[in-house]
Amino acid sequence: MTLEAENFSDLILFDVATLATTEILDHVASSLPDEAVGLLWSDSTITPLVNQARSPTRFVVSPTLLAEALSTVDPYDKYLVAIYHSHPSGHLAISTDDFGTLQTQLDNNVLLPWIIVTPDGRMAAWGWNSDLCLQKLWST
Ligand SMILES: [Zn+2]
Repeated sequence: MTLEAENFSDLILFDVATLATTEILDHVASSLPDEAVGLLWSDSTITPLVNQARSPTRFVVSPTLLAEALSTVDPYDKYLVAIYHSHPSGHLAISTDDFGTLQTQLDNNVLLPWIIVTPDGRMAAWGWNSDLCLQKLWST
């Protein structure tokens, strides 16, 4: 099954079952004890990224590696629907660092949702609503 998210409001409604859950959870498990981070595409595939912080409480992605990951995709084939990262602590809420980065994205007109994943398999999506307030879009 393919994600059918054509825009932000559709993304809120997409079926959680189409999230490439197995692939994301495998990435999260193999990254422990550190946070995992990656990209979720519209065709329900993922691109795992390297957390250069190698930290259980934060992640850092090289802009060069991110640009490389984005450049390998044909935009007529699929598009980016979310960034996921894990919280090995098990918390589904965004951290202070997460909020700062999301605010920076907003300041740069990037409204891409974030999905937070816990090692026990729970997920929550966070994003900006139409009033540009950060809110939990859904959780499992
Ligand atoms: Zn986080």
